[in-house]
Amino acid sequence: MCGIAGIFKKENASFGVAEALFAEQHRGQDSAGIVSWDKEGLHSHFGLGLVKDTFSQEKLKSLPGSMAIGHVRYPTQGPVSLCNCQPHIFSMDGKPIFALASNGDITNLPELIEEIEKEGFALEGDNDAEVMAKFVGMVAFRRNKGLVEAMYLLMEKALGAFSAVLMTDEELYAFRDPWAFRPMCYGDKDGVAAIASESVALDILRIPYKGEIPAGSIFRWGPDGSMTYPRRVEKPARHCIFEHIYFSRPDSVIFGEKVFEVRRKIGEALASGDDVKADHVIAVPDSSNYIALGYANRSGIPFALGLVRNHYVGRTFIAPDQITRDEGVRFKFNPLPGFIAGKKLVIVDDSIVRGTTIKKLIRMLRENGALEVHLRIGSPPIRYSCYYGVDTPNREKLIASKMEIEDIRAFIGADTLKYLTIEDLRGTVSNPDDYCYACFRGDYPAGEKKHPSLVS
Ligand code: SF4
Repeated sequence: MCGIAGIFKKENASFGVAEALFAEQHRGQDSAGIVSWDKEGLHSHFGLGLVKDTFSQEKLKSLPGSMAIGHVRYPTQGPVSLCNCQPHIFSMDGKPIFALASNGDITNLPELIEEIEKEGFALEGDNDAEVMAKFVGMVAFRRNKGLVEAMYLLMEKALGAFSAVLMTDEELYAFRDPWAFRPMCYGDKDGVAAIASESVALDILRIPYKGEIPAGSIFRWGPDGSMTYPRRVEKPARHCIFEHIYFSRPDSVIFGEKVFEVRRKIGEALASGDDVKADHVIAVPDSSNYIALGYANRSGIPFALGLVRNHYVGRTFIAPDQITRDEGVRFKFNPLPGFIAGKKLVIVDDSIVRGTTIKKLIRMLRENGALEVHLRIGSPPIRYSCYYGVDTPNREKLIASKMEIEDIRAFIGADTLKYLTIEDLRGTVSNPDDYCYACFRGDYPAGEKKHPSLVS
């Protein structure tokens, strides 16, 4: 996933970018970086871990200027390391020319790398943003086409997901892949402009939301005002439906929809025609809360906060290695004492990836005396990997790619199991044809990624 933010023409812009990144922390927890620019030049700071641990007041004071961009990282390409932190700084002859941060995943990265290496550029890290920055820098300054043409050429050649911010010494740009897989919005007020992955970051900054950066287009803010460059590459919109199901914050507006409302509709659709009898509906907190509320409203079964989540453990789905994930499950959730015993429960979760987390949770509910556990899932079965910015495991590790629903039910130990259908999911958004459903159907709109790592 990753989260990005940018601010133009605001005193101490780095403070605002840090606040925006803090609001987007759920989009990536492995590293954070901010680059600012003032008349003295470019300033940068990066760190592994959370925004609050990486950016003290002192660190932010060392990033002066009225323009800044930042990034929180969730790795889908390349290991967690300082050289893979973003924004990436593009320099020529030792002089910084621009900085770029991106959210997404490019499926044909090797083709772009071949092109930049032919012109003498070498990679230092293993991440999309560095390749994008070097490609744009090469076209703009080695081939003398200028930045806007370079961004257009990148959008013509790169396949996959990328929502990006780019900052020079006096301009801020935002551009987005022609499919618009990942969200990116902007707002402005009194001459101050802000860009963010999610609208919640604009709320925190108190900058009114204006809309999304349109697919395949370029926005520019500079000393002479703002400018929009329309799309040149026509592709059908393919927004990631999982942004609604799980990734984005419920208080964000994504792809023109209020996320919490889509989740509530998902819950209502799950409950339609479901005749299970239970004492309570409980959510796997927090991402499933609104789905469970929708289910409870439609079914008439009372909603209860039966599980408590420890917020100081990362999202289990995001944890990049198996050890962290297993420990996370044990520490992350705990049932209310005495509440579960003797109850028939509907438990609502947003998705099942490997099945290991929910299996442990159901075991925990039974150990606490649950009489029946009926599992309802707010997405269709995930049968295919994602290549557009989500670190889903290889296909063979996805439980729904190798088991039928009844076998999954038996494996995780639920009394009954029901998934949302793709048709019902489509009914929860206004423009269902504008979404990607590849992790359910395997119909990849921008190709498959076949390069697990590029730099050894
Ligand atoms: S494959 Fe799934 S997770 Fe990936 S972009 Fe498409 S809908 Fe989103």
